[in-house]
Amino acid sequence: MTKGNHNSPDLKSGKGSKDYSRYFDFSDAKVISEEEGKITYRIKGRNVQINSQPDYKEGKRRGKEEIEVHYDFEIPEEMQNFGVDKYYHITTYGCQMNEHDTETMKGLLEQMGYKSVDDRNHADIILLNTCAIRENAEDKVFGELGHLKNLKIEKPGLLLGVCGCMSQEEGVVNRIMSKHGFVDMIFGTHNIHRLPHLIKEAVFSKELVVEVWSKEGDIIENLPKKREGMRAWVNIMYGCDKFCTYCIVPFTRGKERSRRPEDVIAEVRELARQGFKEVTLLGQNVNAYGKDFTDIDYTFGDLMDDMRLIDIPRIRFMTSHPRDFDDKLIEVLGKGGNLVEHIHLPVQSGSTAVLKKMSRKYTREAYLELVRKIKISVPNAVLSTDIIVGFPGETDEQFEDTLSLVREVGYDMAYTFIYSPREGTPAAAMEDNVPMSVKSERLQRLNDLIKENSRIINDRMLGEVVEVLVEGESKNNSEVLSGRSRANKLVHFEGPKELIGTFVKVRITDTKTWYIKGDIVAEAAAVH
Ligand code: SAM
Ligand code: SF4
Repeated sequence: MTKGNHNSPDLKSGKGSKDYSRYFDFSDAKVISEEEGKITYRIKGRNVQINSQPDYKEGKRRGKEEIEVHYDFEIPEEMQNFGVDKYYHITTYGCQMNEHDTETMKGLLEQMGYKSVDDRNHADIILLNTCAIRENAEDKVFGELGHLKNLKIEKPGLLLGVCGCMSQEEGVVNRIMSKHGFVDMIFGTHNIHRLPHLIKEAVFSKELVVEVWSKEGDIIENLPKKREGMRAWVNIMYGCDKFCTYCIVPFTRGKERSRRPEDVIAEVRELARQGFKEVTLLGQNVNAYGKDFTDIDYTFGDLMDDMRLIDIPRIRFMTSHPRDFDDKLIEVLGKGGNLVEHIHLPVQSGSTAVLKKMSRKYTREAYLELVRKIKISVPNAVLSTDIIVGFPGETDEQFEDTLSLVREVGYDMAYTFIYSPREGTPAAAMEDNVPMSVKSERLQRLNDLIKENSRIINDRMLGEVVEVLVEGESKNNSEVLSGRSRANKLVHFEGPKELIGTFVKVRITDTKTWYIKGDIVAEAAAVH
């Protein structure tokens, strides 16, 4: 926000489908006070304290500043018991990265004394950790805010926060300030560690506090995390520099920053010591890990090689960009051991022309060559992917190229999406001449093909013995246990509850499209 523009908040926004600034009038916003860089406005009857608000241009800029790592995080003393006898509820939208951020927020809140509650009617603080990847993800959040307004009217002391990727969007923050003034805090993806401070400011000032950093900050180690179950996520890097033309992540998550290998290794070792059975290494593009180190030559392949030496049964990773998937990584994955043979390798489209417009920086042929190399080096490799249909200008032939690539690779599973224009991204300004009915039909055809593939792959497993990490009772039948194979297949079988949290061997006896069934075997000759 520019200090000179005191009559209305800075409402500029990029091109795209959702330019909320066109719909909201802030001309009556008045400056109430201004101190230490924080400006308080009166907007539609509510005081809004703006510490900092998002700026797309800033978020897009990639500077050369050194990223520092801080190891001295502490909850401010006056907030250490602030949550005693109080309850929190967090609703999380979107990807694993958001799920993991929620674990950090839970950790922070619990260190302040708050306890978790499932029924949000009993919560003293409710946070919506949002996703901006597609428009329908955003619509859900605005719908939810509508419901929460009634709760806030019943319980004025309730603290309501909106955080995550949507908060990084200028238009969203403007819309909340204008239409949902009952919200108490808006903060972004770069300043989660500031949660205790923001709670303090919102509670004591009774204002809507907006603190969204457009630029990524330093890496903060030692943040508390509340993990549950036997599978843990570990961030190895933050941000993304790929700027695929449809994607908002580089704006909402900032530039690529890798955590130091010694910190990642120490965290995974500690999780192994605590008894976790599986770790998923997280990053928007894990294959770019280490490229930002200036003092050491250490890549994702090196990190995975070091992971093999840790006594934890399974290591996975999400998500890898085909462009940075190098031979070293393929070689290391081929060593197997605790590195599982499931690889999520988003392709997005099977047409080289569409990939070019998406700025994915690989061709159909290069992707297929990568798949070929992986299949040669990693025995029993299982591949899954992400695909977008109906990208602006996608022709029938180009869509057919996607179908033929799906057939050729033989994915086990895929996340499929209809293209959704995102404000400020280059694709949002491209002419989109594909009617929605055609996009929906393409999605249906693609999903049918993926289902067919998955069923064929599952059928081939009949009679095989797989190693399953038992996670709990099946959702629909408490007599049945369920777990995941190394290839991330959902497996159902009968067995005693004491097996939960252990590894068992299961012979496959029946297959469905999205899961397989089997019987526990005592001993197995060959396990997949
Ligand atoms: N970083 C990961 C990668 O590049 O593979 C994925 C990140 S994103 C959270 C997950 C998926 O959402 C993407 O792979 C893409 O298929 C999909 N996606 C991203 N932007 C989209 C958009 N504007 N419309 C539809 N799908 C989108
Ligand atoms: Fe988005 Fe592309 Fe980065 Fe994935 S690699 S987060 S799709 S910009």
